[in-house]
Amino acid sequence: KAKQEKRSAYRVFDADIAKEDAERKRTKNALIRVVENQGLDVFCQPILNLETHRVDHFEALVRWHQGEESYVPPSNFIPLAEEIGLIAKVGDFVLSEVLRSLATWPNDYRACVNVSVLQLGDGRFVERVLNGLKEAGISPHRLELELTESVLMSAGSAAHEDLRKLRDAGLNLALDDFGIGFSSFGYLQELPFNKLKIDRRFVSEVEKDEGSAAILRTIAALADNLDMKSTAEGVETAQQLSVVTACGCHYGQGYFIGQPIPLEDVQQAYFEIPKVAKAALNA
Ligand code: C2E
Ligand code: MG
Ligand code: MG
Ligand code: MG
Repeated sequence: KAKQEKRSAYRVFDADIAKEDAERKRTKNALIRVVENQGLDVFCQPILNLETHRVDHFEALVRWHQGEESYVPPSNFIPLAEEIGLIAKVGDFVLSEVLRSLATWPNDYRACVNVSVLQLGDGRFVERVLNGLKEAGISPHRLELELTESVLMSAGSAAHEDLRKLRDAGLNLALDDFGIGFSSFGYLQELPFNKLKIDRRFVSEVEKDEGSAAILRTIAALADNLDMKSTAEGVETAQQLSVVTACGCHYGQGYFIGQPIPLEDVQQAYFEIPKVAKAALNA
């Protein structure tokens, strides 16, 4: 009897695995299709300069839409894209969309693009970025690349070399989700990053936990002392905005400041004088 039960338990388990495999395969094939058909979208979230009180740059966030309202979160499909060798294609698509837009934006606005460490190490990405900027006539300082803290640990020296070339060419480099990984101060010194994006975990707890504010202040001071900038991620309330400002962060990003919007809507939402104001100017 026990043996029988065991066997049927195995069967259920096998069926679960088979179901998961089928599901994964479907997702994988759908991802391959959407990448091939250039069916991904790029959204942009505003980032507020806490010293000038002006939105002066935007982070590009890739979107895989499925129907009107829903989308597959990048945290679900970026790792898959990395696993099946599609991340370079995804990255190239986002980069070219962003460069095309940047060329039309006023000169004092910048953009950030998330980059996977798998895109680095063979020099191809560097070449793409530098050529892309040149062809579009965009100054390199207007483009910022964001890499997560894990690059410090996992990337080889070839990837580090690519980062060095990009920084030498004038691009800005940000360390994303800073504070929750394993980076050491030594790496901060060695690698050419010039911005720390402080993980939203610290921001979300800042109202109820004095320790989080202390960490924010400390990271902001670390950035200052290393001649870097800092951005507080995940600012969702007015209170959080005032605390991160008081903590000395240079920039703030989050739903309270602005939601991600389609890349093609940035122009109208942020750069055009509102129609009412225009009418008033003409009056
Ligand atoms: P990230 O680079 O840290 O991007 C910030 C994430 O926080 C975005 O999630 C954004 O929508 C979300 N967010 C912004 N403000 C708030 C807030 O106030 N509260 C909360 N709870 N969340 C906020 P999203 O778009 O789902 O992206 C998740 C991650 O996927 C990104 O984290 C980034 O690591 C990765 N990713 C997104 N686009 C790309 C891309 O084009 N290439 C690569 N390699 N990775 C990407
Ligand atoms: Mg980012
Ligand atoms: Mg982040
Ligand atoms: Mg993240």
